[in-house]
Amino acid sequence: MTGPQQDAQNSTATPRLSRRGFLGLTGALAAAGTTGAFAFGSAGNANAATSASIDWAGLRKVLDGPLLRPGDAGYTAASRPFNAALGTRTPAAIAQVTGRADIQRCLKRVAGHGIPIAARSGGHSYAGYSTPNGGLVIDVSRAKKITIKDDGTVQVGAGAHLSDVYAALAARGRALPGGSCPTVGVAGLTLGGGIGVLSRPYGLTCDHLKSAHVVTGEGELVLADASHHSDLFWALRGGGGGQGGVVTDLTFTTVAAPTVTVFSLTFPATATAAALSAWSQWIHSAVPAITAVCHVNTGTAANPTPTNRIVGTFVGTPSKLPPHLADLIAAVGVNPTAQRSTSYTYLNAMKYFAGSGTGREKFRAASRILNGTLTRAHAQQVTDLMAERRGLVLLFDALGGEVADLAPTDTAFVHRKAVASVQIYTSNASGDPAVLALQNALTPVTGSGSYVNYLNANQKGWADAYWGKNTTRLKKVVKKYDPKGVFNFAQNVRNA
Ligand SMILES: Cc1cc2nc3c(=O)[nH]c(=O)nc-3n(C[C@H](O)[C@H](O)[C@H](O)COP(=O)(O)OP(=O)(O)OC[C@H]3O[C@@H](n4cnc5c(N)ncnc54)[C@H](O)[C@@H]3O)c2cc1C
Repeated sequence: MTGPQQDAQNSTATPRLSRRGFLGLTGALAAAGTTGAFAFGSAGNANAATSASIDWAGLRKVLDGPLLRPGDAGYTAASRPFNAALGTRTPAAIAQVTGRADIQRCLKRVAGHGIPIAARSGGHSYAGYSTPNGGLVIDVSRAKKITIKDDGTVQVGAGAHLSDVYAALAARGRALPGGSCPTVGVAGLTLGGGIGVLSRPYGLTCDHLKSAHVVTGEGELVLADASHHSDLFWALRGGGGGQGGVVTDLTFTTVAAPTVTVFSLTFPATATAAALSAWSQWIHSAVPAITAVCHVNTGTAANPTPTNRIVGTFVGTPSKLPPHLADLIAAVGVNPTAQRSTSYTYLNAMKYFAGSGTGREKFRAASRILNGTLTRAHAQQVTDLMAERRGLVLLFDALGGEVADLAPTDTAFVHRKAVASVQIYTSNASGDPAVLALQNALTPVTGSGSYVNYLNANQKGWADAYWGKNTTRLKKVVKKYDPKGVFNFAQNVRNA
C-alpha cells in the first residue's frame, strides 16, 4: 500500500495512492463478515421480445460507430460495468457512437420499442445504470476530444475520462476541480455534482460547467447554458446522469493550476471519535484552501477499535499549512502517530490521488450527507457503530468552502450547506445489506440525504435523499426534455 506515510519528499516524484490504499482497506475485507445478496440493477431480461422487434442490422448500417450485439467480438468486454460486483450485464446492443448524429440515429430506431436506453461515458455508475440488461447502451466513450480555448475554457467530449482532462489542462497550466478516480467519466461525474480534493477551494465540477450539448429524449440537439434551455442547464448540475438526455460535450471554466500540498494524519485508534469530531468542526470553519477527508475504518476481530486517517490538500504557500494542522491536532487533544505533508504540481497531486489501479473494482457502497458538525457524543456513536462491524469504511469528504457559496436551489445539487458527503464502502461484493444497514444506522447522526453519484439501487427514500427540495423541479425538467421516458431507469427522477 502506498500513501502519504510513504511519500517521496520531492514534488516531482509521484507516488500513487491506490483506491484500496486511499480507503485503507486490507485483503481481509474479502473475508469479512458481511453476507447476503441483493438483486442489483434494474432491468432483467424481460426485454428479449421487444428487442427482437428492433431492426438492429438497419441501425448498424446507418451508424458511423460500431454496434455490438451478443456474440460480436468486443461485446463481452464492452458490456462489463466498472463495478465488478455487479457481475455480468447483457445489453441487447452497445452503440459505440462517434457523435451527436449517431445518438440521434439510435434514438430514432430504438426509442419507443420498450427497451431501456442508457448513455454510458466512464461506466462507473455504482448500480450499473449505464449498462442495462436487455437494453441499448449509447456508449459515448469514443467522443473524447478536448479543446482548450484562449479564454481558459475547455470543451470536453462526453467520453473523456478525468485523467484525460487533468493531463490536457495541466499541460496548459489550467485545472478543473474533480474526482480522484482516473477512469471516471467527466460526464457522469459532472452531472451528479463532482466532489473531490479541490472542491473547497474551487467548488464542485458542475460549478464550472458553462454549457453542454444534449440530445434530448425527443432526439433534439440542444445547447444548455445560462441563457438557453436554462432549466436543463440547472438540472445538468447535480441532477445525476441519465436524466432527460445524452450529453455529447461539456464546456467548463478552469482555474490556474495550483501547487497542491497533500497531507495526512493518523491518530491512535483510541482517539478515533475525538479525531472525527475535531475534524468535522475544524474543516467546517477552515479556510476554503483546505480540503480534508476523514476515514474511519472498522477494526479486526482481534482489535475491533475503529481506526482513522485524515487525508487532505492545501492550495497555497506550503509554509502556511502547519498552523492549520496544529489547530486540528490541538482540537483532537492527542498527537498523531503518523503525519506527513508533501507539495506537488497540480497534475502530480491528481496522479497521486488517482492511485495505481486502472482496472475494474468490486465494491458495494451507499452514502449519507453530514448536515452538521459532529459533537464528541455523535462521533462516539459513529465509532461505536463501526466497532461492531467488519470490512467497512466511512469516508467523510469535506464540503463547504466554495461549494457552499451557491444556494441549494441554484443548481440541482441540493447539499450546498452540508459539512461533508459520507461514503459507506466495502470491497465485499456481497456487502450491500451491510452497507445499507450502516447507512440506516447513521441517519440519526448525519441526516437522511445522499449523494446521487454514490447511489445505491436498493436504498429506500432515494429521491428525497438525492435531491430533497429540488426533486419536483428536477422531475418537471426531465419530463419536459424526455416526455416519453426514453432514458428511464429505476432511480430516474420521473419515478420519484
Ligand atoms: C472508483 C470510483 C471513484 C469515484 N470517485 C469519485 C469522486 O472522487 N468524486 C465524485 O464525485 N464521484 C466519484 N465517483 C462516482 C462517480 O462520479 C459516479 O459513479 C459517476 O456517475 C460516474 O460517471 P461515469 O461517466 O464514469 O459513469 P457511467 O456509468 O457511464 O454513467 C453514470 C450515469 O450517468 C449516465 N450517463 C453517462 N454518460 C452520460 C451522458 N453522456 N449523458 C447523460 N447521462 C450520462 C449513465 O446512464 C448513468 O446513469 C467515483 C466512482 C468510482 C467507481
